[in-house]
Amino acid sequence: MSGLRLMAVHAHPDDESSKGAATTARYAAAGHRVMVVTLTGGERGDILNPAMDRPDVHGRIAEVRREEMARAAEILGVEHRWLGYIDSGLPTGDPLPPLPDDCFAMVPLEESTEALVRVVREFRPHVMTTYDENGGYPHPDHIRCHEVSVAAFEAAGDYRRYPDAGEAWTVSKLYYNHGFLRERMQLLQDEFARNGQVGPFAKWLEHWNPDRDEFAARVTSRIECADYFGQRDDALRAHATQIDPNGAFFTAPIEWQQRLWPTEEFELARSRVPVTLPETDLFTGIEDNG
Ligand SMILES: [Zn+2]
Repeated sequence: MSGLRLMAVHAHPDDESSKGAATTARYAAAGHRVMVVTLTGGERGDILNPAMDRPDVHGRIAEVRREEMARAAEILGVEHRWLGYIDSGLPTGDPLPPLPDDCFAMVPLEESTEALVRVVREFRPHVMTTYDENGGYPHPDHIRCHEVSVAAFEAAGDYRRYPDAGEAWTVSKLYYNHGFLRERMQLLQDEFARNGQVGPFAKWLEHWNPDRDEFAARVTSRIECADYFGQRDDALRAHATQIDPNGAFFTAPIEWQQRLWPTEEFELARSRVPVTLPETDLFTGIEDNG
């Protein structure tokens, strides 16, 4: 067993399977310890799969999502921890309604940071991944996931901070997930056309927010993980209430994805070890000394 450990912090159950999933599966398969930490229970997620939109599922959505998450973690080969906060939901409308009082985004940052620091000091990851300051997409829990992960990365190694949350542990590197790239989507869309089919991404590409193009320029690290795309898709399908197996995500054959875009992308946001960018391994620069 390798001494290196990777912790992927995510807002909701299913995020670990749609952002950097093949990378976590790759490192787990290589014998590293990989832990996914899910901050909320996903209780306010909509049921996005028509086949699962049933009264018996609605009545026990929190429980269903725990079962789905356990299955996804098993498929990816990763360890899993819940931080236990309640999904904030994605507010819609103009003006936006206030967030529910009991939700994760309303928990004081100091409090949720301490909870994450406790898990960091216990698992002692060398590398953490999270979302960028935009949350990847503007869900209040995703923004909060960024804030709490950065705060925990900063605080975990300082014995004066949260002295009751375990022995200090310094995480070497912090990354942001950057998987949602226009170039990748365009390549797949073009491949459909080359095969005489109409790809499912036309609307996405047409309405692409140009502000999002800056994310491609922020990528520092491309992790080859094509062999794990099958596991990634199986893990995603395990979140049956959230994922329509007939949705656009699954229409591009895995062989195309493996050939055209065999990597997942990350941005090195903080490093306490010397690095040379770009890089192809999240653990580059870290010594394996247990
Ligand atoms: Zn999410």
